[in-house]
Amino acid sequence: MKTQELQQSLSDILEKVDDVVVDYLIPNAKKWDTERAFPRENLAALGEEGLLGLMIPKELGGMGGTPRIYKEVVVKLAQACASTALVYVQHTSAASIMLYGKQQPYISEQLGLMAQGKRLATIALSEAGSGCYFFLPVSQAEKIDKNFRLNTNKTMVTSAGEADIYVTNSKATFAKNSMQSNFYVIPKEHPGITLGGIWEGMGLRGNQSAPMTIDCQLDEEMLIGKEGEGFKIVRESLLPMGQIGISALNIGIAKAIYEESVSYVKKRFYAHINTNLSNFQSIQQIVGEMKIICDQAEKALDTVVLKLEQNQLDMVSTLEIKVMACQAAMQLADLGLKVCGGYAYSAHSPIERYIRDSKAGSVMGPTPEVLKELIGKIVLDVPTQL
Ligand SMILES: Cc1cc2nc3c(=O)[nH]c(=O)nc-3n(C[C@H](O)[C@H](O)[C@H](O)COP(=O)(O)OP(=O)(O)OC[C@H]3O[C@@H](n4cnc5c(N)ncnc54)[C@H](O)[C@@H]3O)c2cc1C
Repeated sequence: MKTQELQQSLSDILEKVDDVVVDYLIPNAKKWDTERAFPRENLAALGEEGLLGLMIPKELGGMGGTPRIYKEVVVKLAQACASTALVYVQHTSAASIMLYGKQQPYISEQLGLMAQGKRLATIALSEAGSGCYFFLPVSQAEKIDKNFRLNTNKTMVTSAGEADIYVTNSKATFAKNSMQSNFYVIPKEHPGITLGGIWEGMGLRGNQSAPMTIDCQLDEEMLIGKEGEGFKIVRESLLPMGQIGISALNIGIAKAIYEESVSYVKKRFYAHINTNLSNFQSIQQIVGEMKIICDQAEKALDTVVLKLEQNQLDMVSTLEIKVMACQAAMQLADLGLKVCGGYAYSAHSPIERYIRDSKAGSVMGPTPEVLKELIGKIVLDVPTQL
C-alpha cells in the first residue's frame, strides 16, 4: 500500500474506533471494572465496525490491517477501557496463531467468521507446569488414528466462557520436550471444555479470566499447521503480535494516567496560597518525567512496528518493548498517585482503576524478568534455550 493510502486507511479505521470508544467504552469502563463484568457490548460494537477482523487478511473478509494500525487501535482502546483492550488483544493474538493455518479450510472458515464479528477468539495457553512460559506447554496430546486426545488444565484464560473460539496448545504427540508443541482451534460448543471459578484479578477486572479444563478428542482439522510446529508459530506469529498488543495496552494505560494527571494538576487550586498545583516546580518536573516516559515507550514501540512492516523482525527490540511498556505503565501509576494524591487513591477517580490495571502486564507471560533474561542471553551470546 502506498503511504497516502495507508494514512487514509489509518485515519478511517481510527475514526471507527473513536466512535466505539465514545459511545461504548468510555461511558461504561467503570461499570465493567466494579462489577467484574465482561464488556460484551463493547466487543459487539467493535465487531459491527469490522474491527474484530482488523488483522485478518482481506481475502478472508478482514480489514488486512498493518501492525501500525493495530498498535494505534489498541492504545486508543486501552486509554478508554483496558479490560476491553485486553480481550481485543487476546482475540487478535488468537487470530495471529490461526493465520499460520489459513490454508486449512476449517481454520480459514473460523477466521472468516471472526472477521465478520460473529466469533470472538482467545488464547488458552498457560499451564501450572510452566507458568509464565506459556509457550512451553507440559501437557501432551495423544494420537488416535488421525485425531488427537487432549487433557490439559489451563490456568488463566481471558474471555473464558465468553469467547467462541479457544486457541490452545500442548506438547506434540511425539515430543521429547516442550519446544515441540502443537496449537489447536477449539470452538466453544465442542464437548469437553469446563470452566473453573473466576480468577479474581487485581486489575483488568472486566476480562473474565478463569481456569479452564480441556478434556476432549480433537479432529485433525483443528490442528494449526503441522504437528510439532508450535514453537515456530510462537516465534513467527504470536511473539510479534502478542508483544505489540500487550505493549500498546500498557502504553494506553500510561497515557490515560498521564492525561488524567495533567487535567487534575491544572485544575487543583490552593485557596490558602492562591495558586495552582501546576505552579510548583517539583510537580512540573514530575509531569515532565511522565511525558518523557510515555513518549519513550511509544517511540520504541513505533520503531518495532515500523521494522515489522518492512519485514525486519528485530528480536531484541521486540522483546524490549513489552518490558519498557510495562515499566512505563507502572511508573506512571506511581507518579500519577504522587501528583494527584487522594484523588488518585479514591475509586471515584479513574486513576485508581488505571493503577490496578497497570500491574497486569508484568504478571502476564512472557514477564519482564523472562524477557530481560532472554535479551541478556542474546547480548552475551549464551544459548537462548529456556
Ligand atoms: C490479566 C491476565 C490475563 C491473562 N490472560 C491469559 C490468557 O488469555 N491466556 C493465557 O494462556 N494466559 C493468560 N494469562 C496468564 C499469563 O500469561 C501467565 O501465564 C501467568 O500470569 C503466569 O502466572 P504464574 O503465576 O504461573 O507465573 P510464574 O511462572 O509462577 O512466575 C512467578 C514469578 O516468577 C518470575 N520468574 C519466572 N522465571 C523467572 C526467571 N528466569 N528469572 C526471574 N524471575 C522469573 C516471573 O516473572 C513471575 O514474576 C493472563 C494473566 C493475567 C494477569
